[in-house]
Amino acid sequence: DSEVVLLGRSNVGKSTLMREITGHRFDTGGKPGVTRKPNHYDWAPEDFVITDLPGFGFMSGVPDEVQERIKTDIVRYLEEHADSILAGVIVLDGKAAVDIIDRHSGPDEIPHAVEMYGFLRELGIPVVLAVNKMDKVDDRDDRLNDICDRFGLLPPWKQWEGESVAPIVAKKGNIGALNEAVRFHLHEAKRDDL
Ligand code: GDP
Repeated sequence: DSEVVLLGRSNVGKSTLMREITGHRFDTGGKPGVTRKPNHYDWAPEDFVITDLPGFGFMSGVPDEVQERIKTDIVRYLEEHADSILAGVIVLDGKAAVDIIDRHSGPDEIPHAVEMYGFLRELGIPVVLAVNKMDKVDDRDDRLNDICDRFGLLPPWKQWEGESVAPIVAKKGNIGALNEAVRFHLHEAKRDDL
């Protein structure tokens, strides 16, 4: 069975996106870190399952050891399912992502999103950066170029469009770029099977 996994820190709009994709309602605006277990749903137009993994990274009000356990669980889940995972979608807040990443970059620190990106790639899982909340971003091209840069993707971002970078506005149901990128990896995977 093919599977697409969704990752992202809390408040990036993961629940909103899941609602758009699946038509189900999710507990948006609820307590951060509430989703602790992987949840599986059918991705309507295509024949695969989408798995919502718990939010990682900083969650106010959630103790450090709980956050560590969540991260360990995510890593274990990805390792165990690597063979059937078609793509990993890392959801970012387009307005905040670069600042957050830069704040957590240092000699002894790697930002969670960047770490997860590298980990997925190590497991051979293609990654799509779903850059959400683009309605709040004025300098669209600059912002998307900066995001590419932080994840080690050579700018300009346009060359990753439809494959690794998908600007979206989940709140308005504007997720065509993400669907396109996921479909790209679906077809790549089918080709590899031949
Ligand atoms: P989660 O914690 O990642 O599941 O995030 P939610 O789906 O609960 O969304 C967090 C907040 O971001 C909510 O207030 C949403 O309405 C808002 N949000 C989600 N998607 C968008 C978007 O595309 N644009 C804007 N401006 N806000 C969004």
